[in-house]
Amino acid sequence: MVKENKKIVQSDKCTGCGICDSVCPINTKLAKKDDFDHDTAKLAIRVRNGSAMVNEDTCIACGSCVRSCPVESLSIVVVAEA
Ligand code: SF4
Ligand code: SF4
Repeated sequence: MVKENKKIVQSDKCTGCGICDSVCPINTKLAKKDDFDHDTAKLAIRVRNGSAMVNEDTCIACGSCVRSCPVESLSIVVVAEA
């Protein structure tokens, strides 16, 4: 999947509300699987220890979480190509 050299960056404003987890299309797709287990699924974003963490291996940098975060804790940045 094309990532268009963008990535999601987290700030320390996160309150751990979990909205980003629930709006992420990757997470939503995984949640439809019969054997879905929230703890072990390769979610693109999840709350751990009270703060959201992005999994760069599965995140497609769509920006849904960025737009949905109530405290603007997430931002999408363009990464310089290697
Ligand atoms: S940018 Fe990544 S973590 Fe955020 S909603 Fe899209 S796929 Fe999920
Ligand atoms: S990043 Fe935003 S939407 Fe996600 S848990 Fe933190 S405060 Fe909530």
